[in-house]
Amino acid sequence: MAKYLGPACKLCRREGEKLFLKGERCFTPKCAFERRGFAPGQHGPSSQGRSERLSDYARQLRAKQKSRRVYGVLERQFARYFSIAQRRRGLTGLNLLQILETRLDNVVFRLGYAVNRREARLLVTHGHFMVNGRRTDIPSMLLRPGDVLSVREGSRSSEYFKTLTEAAESRTVPAWLDRSLKDLSGKVLRQPERAEIDGNLTEQLIVEYYSR
Ligand code: SF4
Repeated sequence: MAKYLGPACKLCRREGEKLFLKGERCFTPKCAFERRGFAPGQHGPSSQGRSERLSDYARQLRAKQKSRRVYGVLERQFARYFSIAQRRRGLTGLNLLQILETRLDNVVFRLGYAVNRREARLLVTHGHFMVNGRRTDIPSMLLRPGDVLSVREGSRSSEYFKTLTEAAESRTVPAWLDRSLKDLSGKVLRQPERAEIDGNLTEQLIVEYYSR
């Protein structure tokens, strides 16, 4: 279960936009992109003035990298998701986004049980969640409509989950999920529609990237 261990804010600066990888901090003046909104590295600030026209390939690459970074997925896993998306019926780009959205760590985040996907991933790997009554510690597990996620009995008494309810209430849950804070559980009702997924992601460019 390889994962990116470097600084999250560097990824936003590299992509030239806020990817909201940290939760609350992203909405405060402490956000690194607000303070240093240029690419990391010694050539970052000096390259800001350059009027760069990106090639088609560069735009496709950036679109793919951004999606990978938003969902915290490494290269090989992302390529694997793309080939699954190609084999599914319908639009490959939308299929890909639906696969990314239905990852267990993303569902935990969307249900408001974590402030960001990194935290969600950590909670899952520490075994705090069950899917359909069975304990799982695999963040990349793909959930299907009808799957029920719940916080493990032994984890409910932990300080984190005891204090979670109030904070989680303020987080909006997308319509394709159903959440019960009383039971600390959630259910996947259906696949997410395009309008319910991050509008900043350009799946068409990702499809073009892999179709070269
Ligand atoms: Fe990106 Fe959030 Fe860091 Fe700002 S605080 S640079 S939005 S991860």
